Amino acid sequence: MNTSPIAVIGAGIVGSSIAFHLAQRGANVSVIDAGTPGEQRATAIQPATYVSFAWMNARDKNPRHYHLFNRWSLDMWARFVQRLGISQSATWGGELRWASTEEGAKELAERVGTLQAWGYPIRLLDGEAMKAMEPGLTPGVVTAASYADGDGHADTGTVVGACVERLAEWGADLRFDTRVVGLAKSGSRIAAVATDQGEVPCDAVVLAGGADTAHLAAMAGLDVPMYHTYGCTILTDPVPPIFETAAVVHSPRDSPPQTNIRQLPNGAVMLHGGAHGRVYDGGSLGRTDGEVQRVVDAVARFLPAVEGVPIREVRRGRRPIPKDGHPILGFSERVPNLYLSVTHSGVTLAPLIGECAAIEILDDARIDFLTPYRLARFG
Ligand SMILES: Cc1cc2nc3c(=O)[nH]c(=O)nc-3n(C[C@H](O)[C@H](O)[C@H](O)COP(=O)(O)OP(=O)(O)OC[C@H]3O[C@@H](n4cnc5c(N)ncnc54)[C@H](O)[C@@H]3O)c2cc1C
Repeated sequence: MNTSPIAVIGAGIVGSSIAFHLAQRGANVSVIDAGTPGEQRATAIQPATYVSFAWMNARDKNPRHYHLFNRWSLDMWARFVQRLGISQSATWGGELRWASTEEGAKELAERVGTLQAWGYPIRLLDGEAMKAMEPGLTPGVVTAASYADGDGHADTGTVVGACVERLAEWGADLRFDTRVVGLAKSGSRIAAVATDQGEVPCDAVVLAGGADTAHLAAMAGLDVPMYHTYGCTILTDPVPPIFETAAVVHSPRDSPPQTNIRQLPNGAVMLHGGAHGRVYDGGSLGRTDGEVQRVVDAVARFLPAVEGVPIREVRRGRRPIPKDGHPILGFSERVPNLYLSVTHSGVTLAPLIGECAAIEILDDARIDFLTPYRLARFG
């Protein structure tokens, strides 16, 4: 048996889940991260996991194989947090949204139809049913609404913290506040990870560096095509429960600014505004104080419970997005002991990616449903 560890670079939700799943099976794991996992950094731009809106869903995922991939992971979340002993850090209750125009109602109904044909638990509601579900909302005109029962959201800091705690209990080598500066090769394989605190010899390397994964992969001579969009979330002071049923509420997509709302277990409300963004500099509202206020005001119009509630923190980061929008997962052909793991929707996907990576790395298996997500698809 080779006694060198598997080095996992990056302890966001993706790297933490992979390290947890590897160590749970008894693997010798080194986890290296430039910061303290799950905690705020001194920099203006935070890791994606810290900033994330963390809605667990398969709602807008296309095509069907990617929808199913997300759905599978969504359905694993309850087991994941139960194993970590932190079941309360996942909040269930479903996702509610509405449309305010006839065109928006048509689009909503079409998507609901597609998702129902795929077996996703989602249904259309009229304005009255929506109001009965969430009496605290003042939505204005409602031309249609939808409710997806199975969706939820995660308290990502607690999840990452719990993974790290288990890793520490199991004797993993944890190297935080340690920056990776190079990947030393022997032939085509990575023999050691060079850090600003010295070298870590390794048997295999997992790259889970979020938006910095392309930069890390380049250290091994690999081109990982990705882009990232700007993302911002706003946290209020804790308030009493704002929703009766739903875990996540989205304002009309046909009436800008689009806003998203969830309430964390400690009562703080997280707001997110603007579109996901399809280009490098596209993305959320929130670069300036003015944009942050615009999001807060927009939410207060249909959720009076947040009006005047102090803002506790504004989180800003980058979404790690592979070039075609789908994850890049698996061993690289050119550097055979380097395992890539970079994705948007990484909160939804963390349990499934963690479990699959452990199978592929420890059992030398190749999972067939990961075929669409290999680096090789980019040629
Ligand atoms: C605004 C916003 C909203 C989002 N909403 C959702 C959502 O609703 N649902 C959902 O599922 N997903 C959502 N996402 C996406 C999701 O948050 C990310 O896909 C996920 O957090 C990625 O996790 P990660 O572990 O890959 O990366 P990160 O959390 O970015 O972690 C990467 C880690 O790598 C470390 N690292 C990088 N370079 C180095 C180096 N050289 N040396 C050492 N360490 C290094 C960093 O310090 C960091 O801790 C959202 C993202 C954003 C920004």
